[in-house]
Amino acid sequence: MTETEKKPFRVLLYYHYVTIDDPQLFAQEHLHFCKELGLKGRVLVGKEGLNGTVSGPTEAAQEYMDTMHRDPRFADMPFKIDESDGHVFKKMHVRPRKEIVALKLDEDIDPHQVTGKHLKPKEFYQEMQNDDVVLIDARNDYETQIGHFRNAIIPDIRNFRDLPEWIEKNLSEYKDKKVLTYCTGGIRCEKFSGYLLQSGFQDVSQLEGGIVEYGKDPEVQGKLYDGKCYVFDQRISVPVNRTDEDVVVGHCHHCGKTCDRIVNCANPECNVQFICCEECEKTHHRSCSEACEHHPRNRYVEENSDHPQAANV
Ligand SMILES: [Zn+2]
Ligand SMILES: [Zn+2]
Repeated sequence: MTETEKKPFRVLLYYHYVTIDDPQLFAQEHLHFCKELGLKGRVLVGKEGLNGTVSGPTEAAQEYMDTMHRDPRFADMPFKIDESDGHVFKKMHVRPRKEIVALKLDEDIDPHQVTGKHLKPKEFYQEMQNDDVVLIDARNDYETQIGHFRNAIIPDIRNFRDLPEWIEKNLSEYKDKKVLTYCTGGIRCEKFSGYLLQSGFQDVSQLEGGIVEYGKDPEVQGKLYDGKCYVFDQRISVPVNRTDEDVVVGHCHHCGKTCDRIVNCANPECNVQFICCEECEKTHHRSCSEACEHHPRNRYVEENSDHPQAANV
């Protein structure tokens, strides 16, 4: 693809564990800086570092990366870069937080002190094919339901902070095995792999750059990843496996047929994301439950009404 054929926007995914003395002040200034550049997205700032996804016109995104890299604290912060036709967020938020990913352990993990071995996509690809490795997905249930590495252990959790308890209950007999962990962009595994080491697991490695970087590796091409990768912006998911072995992971919430189409429930007070096929979207008014289907302000009903005023008569 030549330069001129590229899409006009960029989506940047990045994090860095580095000390930020005054997250409150940093957040204020950073928000101003992002808005000036015309970026949109979500950035979390803590004493422990920075975690963000932003979208913007190619030049603005480049200026953002260049400016960040001139700050000694972020000089070696890697950016994962995707092309896009437009913004993938509606607004720009920069928020101070205690943790930039919430694991909420009694004793917090500092990835500079303890974290798993970092594996490049190719190393990870090779390692996960060994018979005696334990491959753990560190993401939440709504993420894993549309895609994950083949043969991965998929914890049944709604929130990252529930993961330690799930591990203790379900995987404590694997402490002497070789463990591999992965998440979307790598940030959760920095802490999660540290947590595993601290709770007695002997040999823990993590996928550097996460699934997103794995899917971009020209040699590995996303092999052994089934389905799509859930992302926390308007795209909802991105492709990973670029070989012909790709399959659809996921089932329609209503009829159960194979499907990876995620929609937001049309009840504006519910808004939950769920998998729904096109037919069921029509029959169930894009709703996750009967109650939502009959909600007086159901957006699907409003969008598809021939007489938009009818509801007000
Ligand atoms: Zn269906
Ligand atoms: Zn609903």
